[in-house]
Amino acid sequence: MLAEKQALIRQEVEEGTGAAICLEEDRSGVQTAIRLWFADLERSHSPIVTLRPTGLRRFEAKLAFGNFAADTIRQMQQASAEELQLARALVASVASSANLKIANGQTTDDWIIDNGSFTIIAEKRGIESRFDDDSVAETCRELVIPVLAAMAELYGYDPIEESAPSDQEALTEGAVKLTVVRRRERNPRNRLLCLRIHGAVCKICSLIPGKLYGDAGAIIEVHHLQPLSLSGDPRPYDPATDLIPLCPNCHRAVHTRRPVPWTPAELRSKLSSD
Ligand SMILES: [Zn+2]
Ligand SMILES: [Zn+2]
Repeated sequence: MLAEKQALIRQEVEEGTGAAICLEEDRSGVQTAIRLWFADLERSHSPIVTLRPTGLRRFEAKLAFGNFAADTIRQMQQASAEELQLARALVASVASSANLKIANGQTTDDWIIDNGSFTIIAEKRGIESRFDDDSVAETCRELVIPVLAAMAELYGYDPIEESAPSDQEALTEGAVKLTVVRRRERNPRNRLLCLRIHGAVCKICSLIPGKLYGDAGAIIEVHHLQPLSLSGDPRPYDPATDLIPLCPNCHRAVHTRRPVPWTPAELRSKLSSD
């Protein structure tokens, strides 16, 4: 039963979204479903994802809003262009393995939350054995987490502790840009998107930490490719292409050049030259 996997589901979803989650069973259908929403909102004020088995080897995750979510939606509509872009990229990443329907025929490229009847429905078929830990975790990762992570991004959950720059650092534009890059690299939603697109493999040395260290291998890091150009405006940031996974060693190594890190190609050439 899905209901017996609530602890597992909570852990997976909180890790992926960077937000605290509440869960409850929904017994209104033929099969018990699980409803998930943000713990610091009342359910009726929150985006809610209902994960439901809809047939043999088939799951549906439906995002909808609670009946009193108007203020929440207003806040989400204030999201920055960058937050909206990451949210769209997260939702779009679901489409590679599931059937995706967005309210009013909106597309993955340009959807907006227009009102309280906004929905996203993702359906995935062919899940092997529905209620073992692995398939439940996979279902969460494929259907629930990207959609809720997108909502968390729009709502503005910021699990990243900001260390205030020192007075001296605060004076330079370079320091400001470094802070932006650091935030992007440490945002769990960016990490989620990056790993969904590229896999958990180092793009420089090809190390797969999960293979080497087993279940202690979740150490892959996210690197922001766009160099900090110190002159002129950088091009617009695209989370889907500007983030790559690196192992902790390679990540440390690229950042040994400051302020503009070594590029992956430059570091790779050093690797192969010895
Ligand atoms: Zn590496
Ligand atoms: Zn980096």
